[in-house]
Amino acid sequence: MDAGTTADIVARDRRHLIHPYQIFDSVMVDDPLAVARGAGAQLVDSDGNEYIDAVGGMWCTNIGLGRDEMADAIAQQVRELAYANPFVDMTNAPAGLLCEKLASLTPGDLNRVFLSSGGSTAVDAAFRLIQFYQHCRGTPEKRHVLSRVDAYHGTTYAAVSIGGKPGDRVPGFEYIEDTIHHLSSPNFYVHGGDRTEQEFADDLVAEFRAKVDELGADRVGAFFAEPIMGSGGVIMPPADYLQRVWQICREHDIVYVSDEVVTAFGRLGHWFASEEVFGITPDIITSAKGLTSGYLPLGATIVSDRIYDVIAETGHDRYFAVGFTYSGHPVSCTAALKNIEIIEREGLLAHVKRIGPYFQEQLRTLGDLPMVGEVRGSHLMACVEFVEDQRTKRHYPEEFDVGKMVANACEPRGLIVRPLVHLNIMSPPLVIDRDDVDRIVSTLRDAIVEVRAQLDARGIDN
Ligand code: PLP
Repeated sequence: MDAGTTADIVARDRRHLIHPYQIFDSVMVDDPLAVARGAGAQLVDSDGNEYIDAVGGMWCTNIGLGRDEMADAIAQQVRELAYANPFVDMTNAPAGLLCEKLASLTPGDLNRVFLSSGGSTAVDAAFRLIQFYQHCRGTPEKRHVLSRVDAYHGTTYAAVSIGGKPGDRVPGFEYIEDTIHHLSSPNFYVHGGDRTEQEFADDLVAEFRAKVDELGADRVGAFFAEPIMGSGGVIMPPADYLQRVWQICREHDIVYVSDEVVTAFGRLGHWFASEEVFGITPDIITSAKGLTSGYLPLGATIVSDRIYDVIAETGHDRYFAVGFTYSGHPVSCTAALKNIEIIEREGLLAHVKRIGPYFQEQLRTLGDLPMVGEVRGSHLMACVEFVEDQRTKRHYPEEFDVGKMVANACEPRGLIVRPLVHLNIMSPPLVIDRDDVDRIVSTLRDAIVEVRAQLDARGIDN
């Protein structure tokens, strides 16, 4: 394949590709980086420049890029059986083996798996499965869904409506609004004010309880939550908030959906974070991304026996009208099985338990820079928040796009970080070592110092 020069690649992209979250205002758009190759945590662009990818693709390249054994496993499965119809009475071995494996890795009685093609479809399937479940058990009025401001669950119609990032409420789009309700963001740094973390958690729990009371517990069917909010800004759940909300859900028969599209498959040092990190046994877990480490698209909606059995026992006069051509795709499932095998064989969960705290500790050394308001996260999920004033936590005006300025300053230094307005977000591949961490942190430091100087030159100081 001859793609031509870097200029040709970029021009072709500009003419024909519609990107996710495409911005149409051309003055705000930089030329895309034409990525050509990748190995481990390293990317190489079409001009041969090298980068550490501290974003891990899009929170997903967990085992790292360029694995020969993954390429071989995928190639072999393509030769053997590239596709199998999941709708009719047909199955394929990789899909069954993967679901069996997932059932063994998930907490509680989460033993039933619906496969789709990514995180949004996994969330969408969970939303529709819960509707169906509530109808099957004779409680169709339990149709209200709770979520939170700053949540991100994907961009199908249901998933984006469950999401609560203010920036995703874009004029010109419509959202499901009559049955989906957003509670306050659990971002302690931004919203905690004078309260202690425990007081902040208490208030969030009280708000949750009040919302259930207001709507009526007999009308609330589900709560969707990421254990740590990712795209909303790596927001750690304060104190015991998440566990107490889970208890309320159990008390009121509200299905608890833990969206582990980012937090699973080693990012926090565990297969799944809900129970092992946060002490929650959800009714449904949604997963994608690290499930195949980004080698091929795949999403999983993992459902408890308790919910599945109700549907199986009462749903026999109707069928589960959710399905995708690529549900249980044998090649994607093979990639997921190989991915899990590699994580197990190389002890990557244990590695993350060691390297994750070092990553967090080193990143926190950036806190001495006046522009850095907070560094937060856990293990290989991190975020640096930039402020104009550390004391008042006042942000720079949004039009400055400080996160993008820092990301742009990192790029020529060989580091990719993800800008998000006032933030830089990081979720490197699990295979990074101490040298990579040191390079990420020192490069970020240099970039932040440079951006501070640029802001000073524009007459904006801290
Ligand atoms: N859920 C969470 C928590 C996510 O972070 C994402 C994507 O970033 C999604 C769902 C959507 O996944 P996908 O982009 O694969 O549809």
